[in-house]
Amino acid sequence: MKAALYHGPVGSWPEKPMTIEEVPTQVPGPKDVLVKVAACGLCHTDVTILRGAPVISEFPIILGHEPSGIITEVGSEVKKLQVGQRVIISSNIPCLECEACRSGWENKCGNNVLIGVKCNGALAEYVAAPEVGVYPIPDNLPLEDCCIVADIVCTAFHAVYNRAKVKPGDKVAIYGATGGIGLMCVQYVAAIGATAIAIGRKKWKLELAKELGADETICSEETPELARTLRKMTGGGVDISLDTTGVPAMLDAAFRSTKVGGSIVEIALSFEKMPVDINRLMWWELDFMGSRAFGPTDIPRAFKMLEKGITTLDKMLSHRFKLEEVNEAYQMLERGELVRGAVIF
Ligand SMILES: [Zn+2]
Ligand SMILES: [Zn+2]
Repeated sequence: MKAALYHGPVGSWPEKPMTIEEVPTQVPGPKDVLVKVAACGLCHTDVTILRGAPVISEFPIILGHEPSGIITEVGSEVKKLQVGQRVIISSNIPCLECEACRSGWENKCGNNVLIGVKCNGALAEYVAAPEVGVYPIPDNLPLEDCCIVADIVCTAFHAVYNRAKVKPGDKVAIYGATGGIGLMCVQYVAAIGATAIAIGRKKWKLELAKELGADETICSEETPELARTLRKMTGGGVDISLDTTGVPAMLDAAFRSTKVGGSIVEIALSFEKMPVDINRLMWWELDFMGSRAFGPTDIPRAFKMLEKGITTLDKMLSHRFKLEEVNEAYQMLERGELVRGAVIF
């Protein structure tokens, strides 16, 4: 099969680009299925890995953790899935046996399978994965677009419903509402009946945030007094701030514009030292929490909302690439030129 290989070493990309090569197709184990990849979403996590996040133990590796496709083979012990089914493979497959998993914290499983991160992934014509991490796609949803359900659609779901616990009427600021996770947060906040304030750098993406349900938009580059603007806009501060950027200035604005007793939820990874206003945290009794990935029960719930048309994948995939264009695609992602991109096979 054809695949994009990252030969490393850590941090050598893009000077040393990924290469497209012929490699043997994976053989699924007894509990695995083999999926012919239709689309694989391109994620900021991949860029972090390409830029040097020390998570890969062995090179070369095939990246790509957001695939949708069709099952072509099932292992001898696979129980629920069949050849021919349209599926996604979850970007976070818990072991279901460790203490975290048995406590209902499958998103924090330490033995999780991360295809395209810890083992070969889906920037390839075929990819194998354990049955427990593979989910059928509802009939009325497009196969290619569903690749992003494998990660961002569910990551945003967990942040909004399980961590922030947004309620109708809440005023919610979404930092980075111009990226994939941010735009899904906008959709969920709007679906709940809360006020969604979308904050981002690129104006054309803020227009999209509006189309997808944002009540207000703020261009962060044109608004030097971001916290003050938010306080003014909301009559004193927002109930909840969701940060998908990992940018220190954005988190600082969140601390200065979340109202007494409000919550700040961090959904981003960042190598930068982040400011935490400890005085405000204590004096205003703010809740500051992290939100990591999602659990297995979130996937069918996120799919149900898409199936019913409460949320949409339309316009989320702004760019479609060939496998051969993958290096340029990641550079465009890094430059903020995509809403979300995918390699289409
Ligand atoms: Zn991802
Ligand atoms: Zn586990």
